[in-house]
Amino acid sequence: MISNIEAIPAFSDNYIWILIEGNSVAVVDPGDASAVENFLSKNNLTLEAILITHHHFDHTGGILDLASKWNPKVYGPSGGHINGIDLELSENSIIKILNTEFRIFETPGHTLDHIAYYSKDIDSLFCGDTLFSGGCGRLFEGTPLQMFDSLKKFTDLPEDTRVYCTHEYTLSNLTFALEVEPDNVDLKKYFEEVSLLRDSNLISLPSSISLENKINPFLRTSIDQVKNNAENYANKKNLQPVEILAAIRDWKDNF
Ligand code: ZN
Ligand code: FE
Repeated sequence: MISNIEAIPAFSDNYIWILIEGNSVAVVDPGDASAVENFLSKNNLTLEAILITHHHFDHTGGILDLASKWNPKVYGPSGGHINGIDLELSENSIIKILNTEFRIFETPGHTLDHIAYYSKDIDSLFCGDTLFSGGCGRLFEGTPLQMFDSLKKFTDLPEDTRVYCTHEYTLSNLTFALEVEPDNVDLKKYFEEVSLLRDSNLISLPSSISLENKINPFLRTSIDQVKNNAENYANKKNLQPVEILAAIRDWKDNF
């Protein structure tokens, strides 16, 4: 079973998660092959699997180089549109990687092909660009309703599930979240903690489902202050939860 999970930084703010069992590893969203190769050789590891969440280049750019060198199993969304994927997954697919079971969620919103990998065995969720700590992915291809339903799949998971997102966006997300929900004490405390981490250039992830439920405005559309401020921004009354998500997504895009 996977006993260790580490982050390989890539580009300006991506993390490539590396899942380790002994000397065998899997990587999630290897946008940059050289960053992965450096980690593998430094730690004497063998790449056995690649997991892809969606088609964006910062998540897929390293697939072909890594596959030609290591011949790993390459898992990803169905549709045949991502070069190098040989095992296509869909809602409720079950896969076993490094003796650890993962279940697949289809999570359209950021892109239409987006999927996430959840393992009860290791209480971990690899959610790509769907959920970020304190935020969610931009809606490049999907609708607010699709993103709402995708996030709901995550909030239904056990509270102690660790959340491995692919970008270090936490501090800027929390700066925005405080505009939406200025009286949230958990949010204020978390902002202080993440500020300290980032001052020292330390990673803010993984998060957890319980923490995100307390601080992430995109999961808190039923909270009065989130609703009221979304309505103020949109200049409309009686917004429903999906419309609140749409309003704060638009607000964040223009923040
Ligand atoms: Zn993306
Ligand atoms: Fe990305």
